[in-house]
Amino acid sequence: MIYLKLDGYDFQYQIEDVLKLFFKDEKVTLENGNNFDEEGIVIQCSVRRFKCPEDEHKLSFELMTCLKVDGKLLYQFTSDITALMIEINENGSYEAGKVLKREVKRQVYKALSGYTGREMPWGILTGIRPAKIVHEMLDRKLKKEQIMDELVNYYFVSRNKAALLYEVALSEKIILDSANADMVSIYIGIPFCPTRCLYCSFTSNPVKKYEKMVGSYIKALRKEIKSVGKILADKGLKIQSIYIGGGTPTAIDAQHLGELLKEIEDTFCMDDVKEYTLEAGRPDSITEEKLATIARSRVNRISINPQTMKDETLVRIGRSHTSGDIIEAFNLARELGFDNINMDVIAGLPGEDINDFMYTLDEIKKLAPESITVHTMSVKRASRLNDEKNSYDLTDEDEVTKMVDSAYEFIKDIGLKPYYLYRQKNILGNLENIGYSKPGAESIYNIQIMEERQTIIALGAGATTKLVYPKEDRIERVFNVKSVEEYISRIDEMIGRKENMRF
Ligand code: SF4
Repeated sequence: MIYLKLDGYDFQYQIEDVLKLFFKDEKVTLENGNNFDEEGIVIQCSVRRFKCPEDEHKLSFELMTCLKVDGKLLYQFTSDITALMIEINENGSYEAGKVLKREVKRQVYKALSGYTGREMPWGILTGIRPAKIVHEMLDRKLKKEQIMDELVNYYFVSRNKAALLYEVALSEKIILDSANADMVSIYIGIPFCPTRCLYCSFTSNPVKKYEKMVGSYIKALRKEIKSVGKILADKGLKIQSIYIGGGTPTAIDAQHLGELLKEIEDTFCMDDVKEYTLEAGRPDSITEEKLATIARSRVNRISINPQTMKDETLVRIGRSHTSGDIIEAFNLARELGFDNINMDVIAGLPGEDINDFMYTLDEIKKLAPESITVHTMSVKRASRLNDEKNSYDLTDEDEVTKMVDSAYEFIKDIGLKPYYLYRQKNILGNLENIGYSKPGAESIYNIQIMEERQTIIALGAGATTKLVYPKEDRIERVFNVKSVEEYISRIDEMIGRKENMRF
């Protein structure tokens, strides 16, 4: 049991965020009052607020964090935060800003790292998009040494991860800078899959069960595409990238896939579209007819995702295909002229060790895709794996770390470079997912969705549009309903939500 005592401000969320890094499954209890003698771990955080003498609209804070174990005080840190980022909001109340929250996390991290003797690869960076911080530093014109220093000494990121993050941010910056302010990207979701993977938490429905609904779904989607096409034309907005994902877009039949691709190309102005991706995804959904349909369209990037090349693992994770099917689908795609193919793999699949994982990478190397995305296993709350956790052998954290580090060296050796990166909740070893590509094959969409510097209009069931207002430093979300049935029956309402969007 871990007890939290908060005095002055409620930083429970920030403290728990750091606590979870060190004590994943421990229960945290918020304690009131001043009794500080409980058995076990007690974290006490107190904040005192003062008026800032130089500016009546700003405040100063004195922050103190203590870590006590079984009644004994082990660590105590204090910091003075003056004025920065702390302002009176519209309601006249005080709002603690980013700096104060970060300082709380730093103090708790220092205490827990000292107590456990452990350091986390990403330090106090617990968010999904760590590269954003580097982009902010680059915007502030900081030099490489200053960025590395801030990542390592302020955020407590390991030197290796800091160097990786810097490398990724520089690569992303080239793509981000190439987009004009009047550009958006488009996401189109096909929420069907052949079967549900063990670790899946996405909007995905078994295509067999929904077979009769696919036609109505594509009809509704085409209606939404038409209306978005009109909105973009009216506003004079251009499209930089299109991404058809899911689910698995190739789970639907070739005829419906063809109708969808035709609608996209008939409706949207394709003149500025640099990248047009279709996630073919699972080999058990790919046929020659579907690949030929895609090849006739303007799609210029596809994904064929093995996750692993070990047949026994494929069975364990609930995929109804073999490694042979993956190779066959890949070779067929090459024959049909696809020259930009991504392959996804997962480090730390249940029951796999580093030898299994490196075998997968060796097999993929033979195929020579233009990009490889290495995900680290994460046990998502909405997944079957989470419900059945005790029935599976989750890979040990040190082993997963070895896999991710070895993948970095292996993939760099075959000429691909890391170009985008993100993290997920409950990711094994507190690691990350990394997209690698051959130079020039970096996915524009992946970078734009991750760095949130461009509006992405998302269509289909469960899709979330993100309207980015860079001048206001703000993002607004517009949601589509998740259920396929509701999406079809409420399509006019979804279109109405899009028509109300402000650019
Ligand atoms: S292919 Fe992707 S979306 Fe479909 S079930 Fe597997 S993880 Fe989920």
